[in-house]
Amino acid sequence: MSLLLATDFAPDALERWAAQVRESLPDLQVHTRRDPAHDAGIEFAFVANPAPGVLRDLPRLRFVQSMWAGVDKLLRDPTLPDEVPLARMVDPAMNRAMAETALWAVLNLHRRFFDYLDQQRAKQWQPLPQRRANEVNVAVLGLGEMGRTTALRLAANGYRVSGWSRSGTPIARVDVHARDAGLPQVLAQAEIVINLLPLTARTHSLFNAKTFAQMRRGAHFVNLARGHHVVEKDLLAALDSGQLGHAVLDVFHTEPLPADHVFWSHPKVTVLPHAAAQTDLRSATAIAVANINAVRAGYTPAHLVDRAQGY
Ligand code: NAP
Repeated sequence: MSLLLATDFAPDALERWAAQVRESLPDLQVHTRRDPAHDAGIEFAFVANPAPGVLRDLPRLRFVQSMWAGVDKLLRDPTLPDEVPLARMVDPAMNRAMAETALWAVLNLHRRFFDYLDQQRAKQWQPLPQRRANEVNVAVLGLGEMGRTTALRLAANGYRVSGWSRSGTPIARVDVHARDAGLPQVLAQAEIVINLLPLTARTHSLFNAKTFAQMRRGAHFVNLARGHHVVEKDLLAALDSGQLGHAVLDVFHTEPLPADHVFWSHPKVTVLPHAAAQTDLRSATAIAVANINAVRAGYTPAHLVDRAQGY
């Protein structure tokens, strides 16, 4: 019985991770690459940005665990076997990291610390008006693991928080809206809009000229989910026209962001290198191992992906 680690990790990082997995699952053989000598025995796979096609033709494969929370790239691989259950990573440590990044962005936008950074570069001493957190409405789009944790953290910090999801499942202290019909109202009332949606057929390019126009003039946009949620040229036009005030972007159409991309030097854009919530391999491996042990004991693993919905 064996397990395949399929990743784009550098060789030394992969070996360190393999050692951790072997220690946690001592009765499994752990392989770090495909090989005809052992492929027929592979029953499990842990995947982190795997090369397309790496899971094809594994006759005994019976469970795939993504080490990433978002599975959009994996689901785009046509060779991913349909019949094998796929779980995504849900890790409270990662949810907390995401909430910290969102809170950092909101504090900077609300208290105008990005403006003070510009002032420092210009050697300008100019205190700006200070507002209370409860005067600022923040919208969190996507209220799953990351979005719910983020919305609750922002509410605990005193912000007026609204949110949007497919189901509209209520969350205490958050004004929740649902389905396509609920989006315009959420966008219209927010001063800061945070994207924490999964990338699916329905959410691809959701942030475009039409939805930017539905936001309040001067609203700020924070994208912590996926680059292809956004039509980049529409975002630039909204920033340049003053419809949007500032954008904090962690994710992009092309990553790493090309050196000549206008976002790097745009005065109204703050760039992060897809670092809002990185997988913490210590806790994530323990979660993945627990899921494998569940499968081996005949139970349903946690956090299976609904392939029809795309998340
Ligand atoms: P999740 O638990 O699956 O939650 C997804 C949320 O989006 C749910 O609330 C869902 O509604 C809602 N949703 C999905 N489709 C929708 C639609 N068409 N209209 C309205 N709401 C919709 O996902 P998660 O773990 O919070 O992760 C969210 C995303 O964050 C990931 O997919 C990934 O793209 C991104 N991410 C980024 C980083 C980073 O470092 N930048 C790290 C990890 C993850 P329901 O509640 O009704 O199902």
